[in-house]
Amino acid sequence: MKRIQVVILDLDGTLIDERGTTDRAFLAAGRLLHEHVGIAPDRFARVARVTAQRLWWRATWIDPLSDAFGISAWDGLSENFERAVPALDRMRAWLPAFRQAAWKLALDNVGAAGRGLAEAVGAVYTQHRHEGVRLLPGAADLVETLVREQRRLVVLTNGPGDGQRRKLGSSGLLEYMRGLVISTEVGFAKPDPRAVSLAIERAGGRYEEAVVVGDTYDRDVLGAFACKVPAIWITDQPASHRPQNPLAVPVRSTRAVLPALYALESLPAHLIPLNGQADQQNKPSPELGQ
Ligand SMILES: [Mg+2]
Repeated sequence: MKRIQVVILDLDGTLIDERGTTDRAFLAAGRLLHEHVGIAPDRFARVARVTAQRLWWRATWIDPLSDAFGISAWDGLSENFERAVPALDRMRAWLPAFRQAAWKLALDNVGAAGRGLAEAVGAVYTQHRHEGVRLLPGAADLVETLVREQRRLVVLTNGPGDGQRRKLGSSGLLEYMRGLVISTEVGFAKPDPRAVSLAIERAGGRYEEAVVVGDTYDRDVLGAFACKVPAIWITDQPASHRPQNPLAVPVRSTRAVLPALYALESLPAHLIPLNGQADQQNKPSPELGQ
């Protein structure tokens, strides 16, 4: 019997090449503009990215929401946050105005205002975000192997429900998942201990047989620690810069996750940092979360 029965997988940067998709979407918007006004595509891509981010953060009420749900300006440009909890109603209502203003201002910033192109560049960005989803190297093998080994997989992700579901569907991974936990749909986000707790519940598993796999220390790793669940942390940080914690196993890429999981599992029982002592109230564990 495998010790680790439940594998809780982050999505962006762990299974999906989110950064690449976003880069390509901005660049595609830049290419469209280039066809019309001859501005270098990468220049517009750069300006549009910065402009959208500034505009997003300028709305001061967004800050706590972004933090609470793990959402970004890139999502705001392309997703509608369907099925989001009521706490996000204000943001959902604001999104059309945000998009319009972001593209208009970006065009203005490269001297291409007044040509009526805002809607077209926005549509190209959205289309590429939706259709250009790619898996990270090793992600498909990881998921298929874990399922073949009869482990139960759950995706635990901060982000928009529509966007995250679309990524999973178009990448072909959705069918392998026992469940999804998406921050904007459940009302809390990693590292809130309720997130890992709910993922384990949806897998029909227990704390002591779970592991979290993710690429963001503050979200994935601390979210796991909050439930005293070990984490496999995908990171390119040099060892000297990494927070040290015996519950976190650092790996360089998604390809290295499976060997790390086997190594974790093969440790003698008394050395395995599997929890089994998770706080039943699911409160954060300050001694592990620092
Ligand atoms: Mg991630």
